[in-house]
Amino acid sequence: MELARRVSNLTPSTTLAITAKAKAMKAEGIDVIGLGAGEPDFNTPQEIIEAAYRSMLDGQTKYTPAGGMVSLKQAVIDKFQRDQQLTYKTNEVIITNGAKHALYTLFQVLLNKDDEVIISAPYWVSYPEQVKLAEGKPVFVEGKEANRFKITPEQLEDAITPRTKAFILNSPSNPTGMIYTREELEKIGEVCLAHHILIVSDEIYEKLIYGGSKHVSIAELSPELKAQTIIINGVSKSHSMTGWRIGYAAGNAEIIKAMTSLASHSTSNPSTTSQFAALAAYNGDQAPVEKMRQAFEERLDAVFEQLNAIDGVTCLKPQGAFYLFPNVKEAAKLTGFETVDEFVAALLEEAKVAVVPGSGFGFEDCIRLSYATSLDLLKKALNRIDQFIAAHKK
Ligand code: PMP
Ligand code: GLU
Repeated sequence: MELARRVSNLTPSTTLAITAKAKAMKAEGIDVIGLGAGEPDFNTPQEIIEAAYRSMLDGQTKYTPAGGMVSLKQAVIDKFQRDQQLTYKTNEVIITNGAKHALYTLFQVLLNKDDEVIISAPYWVSYPEQVKLAEGKPVFVEGKEANRFKITPEQLEDAITPRTKAFILNSPSNPTGMIYTREELEKIGEVCLAHHILIVSDEIYEKLIYGGSKHVSIAELSPELKAQTIIINGVSKSHSMTGWRIGYAAGNAEIIKAMTSLASHSTSNPSTTSQFAALAAYNGDQAPVEKMRQAFEERLDAVFEQLNAIDGVTCLKPQGAFYLFPNVKEAAKLTGFETVDEFVAALLEEAKVAVVPGSGFGFEDCIRLSYATSLDLLKKALNRIDQFIAAHKK
């Protein structure tokens, strides 16, 4: 059967594929340590699970409006007010099946053929594919390692053409963990305003910030920037709710309306039970969020030096998310592998450590390690990487 052209070059998400492979190896009894997973290793806080359970017993098991329950939209609105002093109305918010689907739906309603979307590399694996699925054209701008993998306003300006429609900003970043400062965002915002480019601000790691850094949303910098920004967020990472699939988009009412119409013909509402869980997540006690954040920071601090001490490995200290993105080009060279991809494949086969190759994120010299796993396993994994390099050293 000949498949549609739009999927002819589509490959499965590298991050999900590596996670699935590590899980399958484990199921076969292989002692593999998976550092691929982009999801917190904690269970969802109990109060959230109980609220979801109660909602089902109360008979809340039917369809909701396609764009999500008004009560959940209100909880999201209250959260924006509480955290960023941003004011949204219910017609400026849509609840989606995870942040991933918010992004997918957004590009579907935004892009015409060959419209350009600027993406800074390293990027999260799904951005370019989602833009292409909407017939748009991803335009990559490289965030230099020397600039902590962040792009400059000048680089952004240089990448703009008459076809540029949007720019994706992801701070804290997956995979690098870097954060744009208020000053950097102000300059980037100026460029976007001057060229009337929509800012897609993916803030899914907003609550996972370390070392006293601060998350700033570009939308909070001015009313003009708020009007030109669609914020993407969700409960997956903040409340350890990846499997519940609740995310959202907030911004321009016309865009949100089109996204809601598309949802009404494609997904209908996100799971009603999950919406009740997210409602409890946002309206309940936020202490579990901070507790999980602290656990991630402790792990980061505990393994960061061990990682940098490995032969041929250098890593910038992340300020957010739960990923380390070390440059291993030298380690691959020392061990006789031509590419980091080959190094990663051998690491899994021989050392039984699963990591994601940087090529999936548009940055071939690095690998991504997730520290959403216990400290014991993390340390063990780093020891294995260290021994693997020592054993292969030419
Ligand atoms: N954006 C980024 C940067 C991510 O890493 C992820 C991965 N979970 C998502 C969006 C999507 O999250 P979800 O669909 O689970 O809400
Ligand atoms: N976002 C996570 C990651 O980057 C989860 C997997 C995915 O959705 O791509 O690993």
